[in-house]
Amino acid sequence: MPNDFAADVLVCGAGAAGLTLAIELARRGVSFRLIDRMGEPFHGSRGKGIQPRTQEVFEDLGILDKVVAAGGIYPMMRDYRPDGSFVEKDFGERPEPMPAEPYHIPLMIPQFMTERIMRERLTELSGHVEFGCALVGFEQDDNGVTARLSGPGREEAFRVRYLVGADGGRSFVRSALGVGFPGKTLDVGAMVADVALTGLDRGWWHQFNDGDMQWMLSICPLGGTDLFQLQGPVPQEGEVDLSAEGLQHMIAERTKRNDVRVQSVSWASAYAMNARLAERYRVGRVFLTGDAAHIHPPTGGQGLNTSVQDAYNLGWKLAAVLRGASDDLLDSYECERRPVAEAMLGLSTRLLEAGKRGEIKRGREVRQLDIGYPNSSVNVESSPKRDGIRAGDRAPDAPIAGAAGHPSRLFQLFRGAHWTLLVNGQGAVAPRPGLHIHRLGEKGDIVDALDHVDAAYELAQGECVLVRPDGYVAAVLSLGPAGSAELETCLDRMGLPAYCEAQQ
Ligand SMILES: Cc1cc2nc3c(=O)[nH]c(=O)nc-3n(C[C@H](O)[C@H](O)[C@H](O)COP(=O)(O)OP(=O)(O)OC[C@H]3O[C@@H](n4cnc5c(N)ncnc54)[C@H](O)[C@@H]3O)c2cc1C
Repeated sequence: MPNDFAADVLVCGAGAAGLTLAIELARRGVSFRLIDRMGEPFHGSRGKGIQPRTQEVFEDLGILDKVVAAGGIYPMMRDYRPDGSFVEKDFGERPEPMPAEPYHIPLMIPQFMTERIMRERLTELSGHVEFGCALVGFEQDDNGVTARLSGPGREEAFRVRYLVGADGGRSFVRSALGVGFPGKTLDVGAMVADVALTGLDRGWWHQFNDGDMQWMLSICPLGGTDLFQLQGPVPQEGEVDLSAEGLQHMIAERTKRNDVRVQSVSWASAYAMNARLAERYRVGRVFLTGDAAHIHPPTGGQGLNTSVQDAYNLGWKLAAVLRGASDDLLDSYECERRPVAEAMLGLSTRLLEAGKRGEIKRGREVRQLDIGYPNSSVNVESSPKRDGIRAGDRAPDAPIAGAAGHPSRLFQLFRGAHWTLLVNGQGAVAPRPGLHIHRLGEKGDIVDALDHVDAAYELAQGECVLVRPDGYVAAVLSLGPAGSAELETCLDRMGLPAYCEAQQ
């Protein structure tokens, strides 16, 4: 095969995963194409819960404030009894923000709005989605992938170094690779619909017949819109009438109310719930990400979040390897992300079972802040005796001040495509392009006046913490001769060229 690459990466599918990946590649200057077989953007609400860890990712991608401004937070619930009376309750815990965890509760924004904001960010970075362009075949060899694309009135072959299947639960890429998708189809059918309706207060999430798998109905006002999202179980056999009349009938039957009137339906879907995990996330130069790699019940609002974080994990690694990092960095994608999906499949299935009993409790685990990569090959192991932060942990935030006196946060220092090294004290570190070095302590450029960095990182004098571009700790090292050598080796492996080499 000739190596006349038209772009470095082809991203197949412009849902939340494909868009995240494209933003990550665009802000690192990697050439890519992002295609979607649909003629226009998807317009359904589907994944409406944005978890705190994804909010941190969105801050780094430069879209968090827009997502917050466009959406909202989940309202309290009204849980109706059969006689029409109701109790008010919260759908989950609402902990206070903490210095180390600034985002504490899920946001609510329909998926079509999240994706619109992502496309706008991509445009700022000079990227775009090619709608109406489907991947219909591909072959890979040692050097690249030749993809066959099809759109209205055109077919083309296109050669890239890497292909990423971000093409959803029925992934064409996954089946073309022959990657198994074991798991099960759960004995639950469900419908979801975005409707304009009258007769219900938009200040509440209305829940009828909670735990009754025949009559349950959830009617939730969709933040940032005039719509409500209806969700409920439906029989797996036979057609479900998702027209305005059909949904009107369903509402009357399940709520025993005639004052709730459906005005229009903007999107609706009936589906069978599945819990499945791809056997592999990488085959040679082809990767699977998002729903293409895992599907599960929507309980707990994990799918879109996990998909965004998959792509966020893969993006910087593809860019690094294209710039010269060792190829095995790309193997760490599956090794880090597949166990996360496996755990999330278990969590969302357990929550589904609890939901069937009307006992669903969304605790800390749904917020995804404790996800980490303790067994990653990227980690440089710190001393096993070390307390506090370890390689593979999420790097916490902390309010700080710059030496010039301005208030700042660690997340502000981490934001961007670079690596960050936080050094406690004056140990010597050679600067490198792509590495931002910040120092605490006397003559440091950052001031930990309230000891939040100390509380979160517990760095001894002369210790440093190396933070990856995706906000996870790669190493905690003592900057003696051995630690400094380990740091240099790690940075070399990650494709961060030593300064003198970069000058040549
Ligand atoms: C009812 C419901 C409620 C949900 N609620 C939540 C929630 O609250 N929180 C949450 O996190 N998640 C939720 N989810 C899950 C969430 O919607 C998905 O996890 C998310 O959409 C996955 O994103 P993705 O980009 O991987 O895939 P998708 O959004 O499915 O995008 C895949 C894209 O690939 C394109 N494509 C497919 N084949 C090709 C091809 N051959 N060539 C080119 N393009 C192709 C498709 O057109 C599509 O646009 C919910 C899902 C459902 C169904």
